Amino acid sequence: MPNITRKDAYDVVVVGTGAAGTSAALTAAQNGASVLLLEKGRHTGGSSNYTEGLFAVDSYLQKQQGITVSGTDVLKEEVAYSKYRADSRIWRNYVDDSADTVKWLNEQGVEYEGVQAMGDGEATWHIYKGMGNAVINDALIPQAKKLGVEVLTSTAATNIDQENGKISRVTIKNLANNLSESVKTSSVILATGGYLNNAEMMSKMTHYDTSRLVTVSSGKGTGDGLQMAWNLGARKYGTGTAMLFGGYLKDPSVPAFKFMSSEMNTAAGQQPLLWVNENGERFVDEAVVYNFSFAGNALYTQNKVFSILDTAVIDEMAKSGNFMGLGVYVKRGQKMTKLKDEIDEAVAEERPFIFKADTIEELAQKMGVPSEQLMQTMTKYNQDCELGQDSLFGKDPKYMRPINEGPFYGFSLNVGAFCTMGGLQVNPNNEVLNNNGQAIAGLYAIGNDATGLVGDTYGPNMPGTCVGYAFYSGRNAGLHAAMTVSDELEDN
Ligand SMILES: Cc1cc2nc3c(=O)[nH]c(=O)nc-3n(C[C@H](O)[C@H](O)[C@H](O)COP(=O)(O)OP(=O)(O)OC[C@H]3O[C@@H](n4cnc5c(N)ncnc54)[C@H](O)[C@@H]3O)c2cc1C
Repeated sequence: MPNITRKDAYDVVVVGTGAAGTSAALTAAQNGASVLLLEKGRHTGGSSNYTEGLFAVDSYLQKQQGITVSGTDVLKEEVAYSKYRADSRIWRNYVDDSADTVKWLNEQGVEYEGVQAMGDGEATWHIYKGMGNAVINDALIPQAKKLGVEVLTSTAATNIDQENGKISRVTIKNLANNLSESVKTSSVILATGGYLNNAEMMSKMTHYDTSRLVTVSSGKGTGDGLQMAWNLGARKYGTGTAMLFGGYLKDPSVPAFKFMSSEMNTAAGQQPLLWVNENGERFVDEAVVYNFSFAGNALYTQNKVFSILDTAVIDEMAKSGNFMGLGVYVKRGQKMTKLKDEIDEAVAEERPFIFKADTIEELAQKMGVPSEQLMQTMTKYNQDCELGQDSLFGKDPKYMRPINEGPFYGFSLNVGAFCTMGGLQVNPNNEVLNNNGQAIAGLYAIGNDATGLVGDTYGPNMPGTCVGYAFYSGRNAGLHAAMTVSDELEDN
């Protein structure tokens, strides 16, 4: 008798309980498979717990709201945005299935707030009630359990074996008592959420300086699925992409997640106001924040970046609302009623990311930026604001705010990162491909473990596509795995 699991064999083993893994497990069970769902964390849901909404076109919600977005236009835009690194076949299927995924989630008990755009993107973001946490833990996992899916937490998959070219077993480890055992199966679906939290993989496989990245995630994306698949001869493909989301405050003594709903963090890192580098120069049209991944790229072009706010713009955001929010954590246009208090508290506590001064010279000195250059930058910027024309980079005049009312605040900006995307090449069934482009029978990769959705930069222009793909690819692989098992049974 097995010690960790109830049975010693399952039709399908799913590794990871984020949006991708739970959708795969539930779909496989709904199509008749016996399923083991593994989660190495103590709780189910992974980074998907923090998500706000998923992408879709032609959904019943969009129809109710009178929103029309063409699936083919989305496909063409996203494939072009990826510089043709994304897989058009995957996008076709994803787009075509997206309305059904929204409905399927609703049938499992998921409720929605509505559909909205993000920044200057399309209205494709279906915001669910209670965030991803409710979707997974109140809807998908209970439904899966009802259908007999065995869900094990604190249990990691550590190795996958093949016999005669077919998946045969998975080694699993109970992390509470360190006992391992081997489970028989012919299908493994990898949904381990990427490798953002594996420092070695990040430095080998991406060009990011990890000391400047502020990772906001479950902390468990350590590339396990990728490593297990590569050990079986899967092609290493499409690594190097992290989902950056613009400027973010960094304080080693505060868990990064805490800043997600901070108005100060949104005011400092996500507004189209003034950014300077360590030399005191502007370097980009700051309205790039309307695509948070482009903003992350732009911030990376400099060694250090500071955003500078004066008292007038802080008051304006408190009274009239911010220019750009941070997802549903701090909504776009939200009146920043807590901003002043949060800033005062950070100054009083001498947080390492904030600098306050009565003059620009003093601010330059505190930030370690050459004061003469900063003065020149500010003089020019303020003149441009008065003329309503950004003579350097053509920023939209509606975001030009002079910096002339002290006290002045400088914020040192690092770069937020939510997840990595890619590493395993998959075909439209989400089967993992080897170096010869052939599917490794019985091995699937979904969600952030799979390549095919993006190029080197995530596309917030079409909001919700990352977690939307996790749900879609989970359903896709779960169905394919269950059908393959049932076909094999019929053949035997
Ligand atoms: C704060 C935040 C907000 C976001 N908002 C959105 C949004 O609104 N829309 C959007 O499209 N995207 C959003 N994203 C991106 C989103 O998180 C991902 O697209 C999505 O969660 C990926 O799902 P996944 O199932 O692939 O991975 P995850 O949700 O990360 O799940 C992977 C799971 O696998 C487990 N695991 C790893 N290794 C093993 C192992 N060896 N054995 C067993 N279990 C293992 C992990 O513990 C984890 O629970 C957001 C991300 C963050 C961090």
